Amino acid sequence: MVALQGFGDRLLIASHNRGKIDELRALLEPVGMPVTSAADLELDVPDETGTTFEENALIKARAGHAATGIATLSDDSGLCVDALDGDPGVYTADWAGPERDFAMAMRTVEEKLHAAGATTPEQRTARFVAVLGLIRTDGTEVTFRGEVEGTLVWPPRGEKGFGYDPVFQPEGFDKTFGEMAADEKHGWTHGGDSGLSHRARAFEKLFNAIAAAGPAMPDDGGAA
Ligand code: IMP
Repeated sequence: MVALQGFGDRLLIASHNRGKIDELRALLEPVGMPVTSAADLELDVPDETGTTFEENALIKARAGHAATGIATLSDDSGLCVDALDGDPGVYTADWAGPERDFAMAMRTVEEKLHAAGATTPEQRTARFVAVLGLIRTDGTEVTFRGEVEGTLVWPPRGEKGFGYDPVFQPEGFDKTFGEMAADEKHGWTHGGDSGLSHRARAFEKLFNAIAAAGPAMPDDGGAA
């Protein structure tokens, strides 16, 4: 394992969403650092009172860091639908209700698109946004944003992924994220220059920042 500047010896994922935790763990594998999560540590769920993905990402990361002192990574993400003026946006999880019923949430989006008269692919454009919030052990903060453009299909297709994946068809593909294996969704199997999913694109920025900072030196506290 390479010690990284500002990271200590493990990383906390500030999330209680199992689908998201699994994706983040997989994306963090190249870092080779032990990872735990707010769900595993049974931390309180903070209120996401921000009005931007960046604000909410930092609210979650700060809560995890304050509770544990561990370097903390959060992800605030959502689906922004053009015909719905960017909704559900930061309220994407809320549209699934307290039971996190994403079949219902996808139906709600579809009903609103129908009410807005959005029937053609051009009228049904949307993007997934992911903002990673990172708090280093010393409390310094940074965010990284990734986005992927696509079209909303109906009915939902595919059983893979999580959340709204079955209705999101990324630009240039004829499969939904729900029909793609994780490697495909993140773009690692497409041979392009960059990742595909919003989360993979945000991760590329995070990894570039880590690479630019370089490994921790033994005399800086062993990656403290
Ligand atoms: P939050 O970031 O936990 O507030 O919630 C983001 C919500 O956006 C999740 O509940 C998911 O339903 C949705 N979402 C974010 N990223 C993805 C994705 O990669 N696939 C499908 N849904 C996603």
